[in-house]
Amino acid sequence: MTVSRRTFVAGAASAALSGPLSLPGLTNQVPDVREGFDPWLEIDPAALRYNVGVISGLAGGRPILAVIKNNAYGLGLTTVAAILEDMPEIMGFAVVKTEAAVALRDAGVRKPVLLMALFSEADGADLVSRDIDMILATDDSGERVARAARQVGRPARVHIYLDTGMSRMGIPYHRALPWLESVAPLGLDVRSTFMGFTEKTDFDPEQLRRFNDVTGTAKARGFELGALHAASSNGVYHLPQAHLDMVRPGIALYGAYPSDAESEHAMAELHTAVALRARVVRVERLRTGDTVSYGGNYTADKPTWIATVPVGHTDGYPRQAVEGARILVNGTLYPAIGAVSASHTIIEVGEEPSVSIGDVATLLGPNDPAIKPNALAEVSGSVYDVLMHLNPGLPKVLV
Ligand SMILES: *Cc1c(COP(=O)(O)O)cnc(C)c1O
Repeated sequence: MTVSRRTFVAGAASAALSGPLSLPGLTNQVPDVREGFDPWLEIDPAALRYNVGVISGLAGGRPILAVIKNNAYGLGLTTVAAILEDMPEIMGFAVVKTEAAVALRDAGVRKPVLLMALFSEADGADLVSRDIDMILATDDSGERVARAARQVGRPARVHIYLDTGMSRMGIPYHRALPWLESVAPLGLDVRSTFMGFTEKTDFDPEQLRRFNDVTGTAKARGFELGALHAASSNGVYHLPQAHLDMVRPGIALYGAYPSDAESEHAMAELHTAVALRARVVRVERLRTGDTVSYGGNYTADKPTWIATVPVGHTDGYPRQAVEGARILVNGTLYPAIGAVSASHTIIEVGEEPSVSIGDVATLLGPNDPAIKPNALAEVSGSVYDVLMHLNPGLPKVLV
């Protein structure tokens, strides 16, 4: 076997990081990152597993294809896979980067891994030999997968991606039938057929109608389509008619609500599975008229204590946080003020110096409704950004 650079790097990383539970880099860290002044992420396996149960309940027990793309929405790709893999509700994992699919197999993940992206000709055989499921999403992708399978000498599992109105990836539904005719002779092992919603309330039903029409006709003509799926987290909550044979959620797994946090919370509560924390590095008193950070956006209108938390936008904390987000220290919420700079955020502590250097500040986490992902998203815009922009380099601790 030739050792590609990718194999070498991923292999070296997992060897260096393997812990007792083979959860990379998470347990028994010496010294504990939580003792130092660098920020860290805490990942809560019980919350992740709880959310799988909630999603399964909403989806009537249908299998879950867990979307762990983009570093598992910030929580750590192999970390999350290792936590979820043994759950019977989880039928497999979906990612959108070739590198991630390979990393899952290198980490020992055995359940199906679906690469929801195009693969290069050079990667095809490697992916088939690693048992990575691939999508059929372009006119020639059936041929490409068949070639890779021939090279390796074993069948490749494929999933047909239909475009019903998203216009992003997949075969347009209105020419899917003749295209299916063209791939049928290739004898590929079709495991599923799927689509994605635009999540535009009045268009989703039309998209589902298109999908049902074309898959119904295709089945009647004898095409093998495998399991049908369409619902991401939003569909799990709001489109029961789209639960089909399985569901394909991402963000809800991590304890964030996909679209309308209030109503979704009332339907089925999720547990926030991640926390972003750091220790306070500076506490000082401002005089009236002193300003804070780049641009001097904040001016003290009376003497006040402030504190500096060493987390900034490079760590994934949104710049917009100073427009209303709060940070939890010792059970009290303090507003972020001035500007979020690359590595620092400043909080207004008030008249009393009630915060000390070394106190743990929580910028995101389960500990208060004001710092849950959806609450931070109310200030910064998108809950997807809140999670997915967490810096993959942040050290992670299982709690
Ligand atoms: C990201 C993604 C999902 C998961 O979406 P959530 O809104 O996070 O649940 C499902 N399907 C596809 C194709 C995706 O790209």
